[in-house]
Amino acid sequence: MTQTTSLTAQSEALFARARRVTPGGVNSPVRAFKSVGGTPRFIREAHGAYLTDADGTRYIDYIGSWGPMILGHDHPAVREAVSDALQLGTSFGAPGEREVELAELVTRLTGAGKVRFTSSGTEATMSALRLARGFTGRKLIVKFRGNYHGHADGLLVEAGSGLMTNLDGALGTSAPSSAGVPEEYAALTLVSEYNDPAALDTLMAERGAEVAAVIFEPVVGNAGVLVPTPEFLAALHRVQDAGALLVADEVMTGFRLSINGATGLLGLRPDLTCWGKIIGGGLPVGAYGGRADVMDFVSPQGPVYQAGTLSGNPLAMAAGLATLRTLEADPGIYARLDAYTSRLADGLKALAQEAGVPVSVNQIGSMLTPFFQDAPHGSLRSYADAARSDTRAFGTWFQGLLARGVYWAPSQFESIFVSASHTDTELAATLEAVRAAFTDLNAS
Ligand code: PMP
Repeated sequence: MTQTTSLTAQSEALFARARRVTPGGVNSPVRAFKSVGGTPRFIREAHGAYLTDADGTRYIDYIGSWGPMILGHDHPAVREAVSDALQLGTSFGAPGEREVELAELVTRLTGAGKVRFTSSGTEATMSALRLARGFTGRKLIVKFRGNYHGHADGLLVEAGSGLMTNLDGALGTSAPSSAGVPEEYAALTLVSEYNDPAALDTLMAERGAEVAAVIFEPVVGNAGVLVPTPEFLAALHRVQDAGALLVADEVMTGFRLSINGATGLLGLRPDLTCWGKIIGGGLPVGAYGGRADVMDFVSPQGPVYQAGTLSGNPLAMAAGLATLRTLEADPGIYARLDAYTSRLADGLKALAQEAGVPVSVNQIGSMLTPFFQDAPHGSLRSYADAARSDTRAFGTWFQGLLARGVYWAPSQFESIFVSASHTDTELAATLEAVRAAFTDLNAS
């Protein structure tokens, strides 16, 4: 099925206007559909499991604003909390009770000793690494190929997410993933392979005494979904013996894989953790926290500076509190999210096989990626594994879904996010579209 112009006329017109005044017409690169082609849909509104675009077309949403909307869009508890907060003013630039409440809730749920709120995940990881450097007096950071930790300069090195498809040829050994990041700066970031314990051990044996922090995605979403092996998690914890701080980037996985995040699910013992997305319930919030002795190095208590005009914003805190409280009050919610996503994974596997399309599905909890390549399900473990996928085939399949009202993540190298408002109705409609999209692919 091909999309007729009339179905996207408003989005096309908005995209043309946007391109005149905004680079690439979008405020975050993957939204431009560059790697899958076609017209990015300009979204007018979102309720429950659905997005409605500017032309009035409704889509089953598998992006959930890239993670935050775990309860579904426009959830009554969140809407009510934000509108209550709205009556009392939108920003104070002075501390308020909601920040204390959310910090108390986050520390209780995650085991962090102290927490500091920012306005984005990028600020959280950037600040956590500055803190790690300030605390240890060391300069080097270790990250993993294809992990994405936001767009601070030192983290745009061999980075995943939009950088895996939107920049041609930018990935090389320890090279910056973006223009504008000086090589001297990138050289302070060492890169190792995800799920390769021996490579990390070797790197730490050589440079461990200079390493301030090792930052990692506990489950990768930004190269598509990659699940860590127990051996890799053990190697990660060995970096602490070398005096480096272990920094879990739970911006995506926090409060998604369990109420205690991937840290709780996988039994991690990080020194610091970064959060974003769900912690703000769809409003701009990030946070970093962990060992109280380390966090006490943050200004004004300690010497490491970090600040924010809108940090702890009352509307954002209200949305985060309502989201986390709703998640905590419903003990069955993670099992239901997992059940939906497992059935989606099973359906994808069966329909791909039926159509003879090589697809390798990785899924954990409500995160899932179908990699378009011939490999056993669940076997892909690294950036190199993910990168072997057929992005052209993925793009054709993605367009087939979109034309049938299913809004999948517009890149092979992203996770989808299922929400609590996805029900059997959405699952059946999605699998019908999946079947047809595989047929499209075979016909292309
Ligand atoms: N870390 C991870 C693991 C992420 O997935 C993201 C965003 N997708 C970030 C950090 C950056 O967060 P933000 O986009 O809020 O700056």
